[in-house]
Amino acid sequence: MYFRKRTTNLFAWLVIVIGMAVVVAISVLLYQHTVNLLTANLRQRIESMAKIAVPSFDPRDIEELRIESDWQKPEWGRVVNQLLAIEKSDEDILFSYVFRKKLIDPLQMEFVADSHSIYPYANNDYDPSNDVDANRDGKIEPDGPDYLQWPGQDYEDPPEGTFRAYDVGPTTSKDLYEDSFGRVITGYAPILRNGETIAVLALDMKADNFFAITGQTLYPFLSFILFLIIIILLLFFVIIKMWGRQLKKEVIQREKIENLASELQVSNDKFWVANEKLKELDKQKTEFVSIASHQLRSPLTSVKGYASMLLEGSFGPLSEKAAEAVGRIFQSSQKLVVVIEDFLNITRIELGTMKYEMAEIDFKALTEAIVRDVKPTVERNKLKISFEAAPEEFKVKADSGKISQVVSNLIDNAMKYTHAGSIKVRLEKLGGKNRLLVTDTGIGIAPETMPKLFEKFSRAHDAGKTNIIGTGLGLYVAKQIVEAHGGKIWAESEGQGKGSTFIVELG
Ligand code: ADP
Repeated sequence: MYFRKRTTNLFAWLVIVIGMAVVVAISVLLYQHTVNLLTANLRQRIESMAKIAVPSFDPRDIEELRIESDWQKPEWGRVVNQLLAIEKSDEDILFSYVFRKKLIDPLQMEFVADSHSIYPYANNDYDPSNDVDANRDGKIEPDGPDYLQWPGQDYEDPPEGTFRAYDVGPTTSKDLYEDSFGRVITGYAPILRNGETIAVLALDMKADNFFAITGQTLYPFLSFILFLIIIILLLFFVIIKMWGRQLKKEVIQREKIENLASELQVSNDKFWVANEKLKELDKQKTEFVSIASHQLRSPLTSVKGYASMLLEGSFGPLSEKAAEAVGRIFQSSQKLVVVIEDFLNITRIELGTMKYEMAEIDFKALTEAIVRDVKPTVERNKLKISFEAAPEEFKVKADSGKISQVVSNLIDNAMKYTHAGSIKVRLEKLGGKNRLLVTDTGIGIAPETMPKLFEKFSRAHDAGKTNIIGTGLGLYVAKQIVEAHGGKIWAESEGQGKGSTFIVELG
């Protein structure tokens, strides 16, 4: 998480730095472009000034000024005055002068005249009234800027523009250069005689004003850019701060979720283990019930068997009281056998060991036989039982033992939960299906009991009151058996005290 946050911050900073670099680069390029444009303008200006000034010179005057003493010639005065007039024509012009290639060595240059040198020794003689402030800075500096030239004086280290003027005509110094007057640019224009360059007029121009103009144009713009950068920076800071906070929130949130998930995993694991344990316990319990039921069944069967034999007189006649007692024993053991059968069926269902032996059976005959068998008992309970069936055949594929169990259970229930009245057992055909209906006039079923009727251990809350032995398993087992046959079982009742009908539908 920490690493991720750091990477994000680094990324944000990288974006800021790159963004600023781009803005600065654009500003520099823009500045450079403006400077270049203005410099080009300046070059053009000084170049054309030099060009325009050239015709004011008489080339013959220039030719006359060769050696130091030529300053005394009248041509000198004319040329110097021309130069001074040019210089004064524009306040940005610092100096105007004429030079040429040396006759004896064309690779060397010499001066012809400059704008201040009417009397070239003015600053070096003993008469201060001759002094000339050549660069007009208020100071006389004979060895510096106020040094004056005379004809034939060596032009030491002439700039390359001086030669270029010979080759290409009007031109300027390549770069702006810094000298004691500040930044300077020089314009050159050849002075021709009979189409041939005999000397070059040079005008030195102050470029500082021009830079001041450039500044005036650019500084507001650059200030605006700077202002923009600051605003962008501030915005970025705010965004990064917010981003950071958001990330922090996300990290906390994620950690919470991860903790929850791991807690959930732990409890899930625990739950799984507990569930497995429960399943195991449940299985053990079912197995125990199964073993116990089996163990109980044999002695109970013999109790029931002997009671039956006693009642039948197999061991001699019984007194009336003894017969009644044995009769009770027989009935109770009969009920217990049913209970134990229920337990065994439940354990079989839960252990998955319930076996079905399917065969085609006559549902009508099977039901009729059960009704016939149960009739004496029903009548002993002062109830009536009837059986009716549609004339069709009722052949179904089923396990006859299991289906008998279901039918017996329904009739048994009808008997248990009916105090007076009758039980009707009917077989109908409906939509090609076989329907068994067991209707009684008994206690009925309350609507709230209805949905749970076929659940395990489900007994209506008043079922106990009727003093009837029951486990609440009979209908559950019946449902499992019917559904294993692909059939359906349900109950209908108009309510408590209004009797009930149990319906089994088999394919
Ligand atoms: P048991 O009869 O052993 O309680 P059953 O599963 O057979 O268990 O029946 C579940 C419950 O359904 C009964 O306790 C009783 O409340 C109700 N019941 C079953 N048959 C009838 C019936 N014919 N009339 C009214 N209630 C019935």
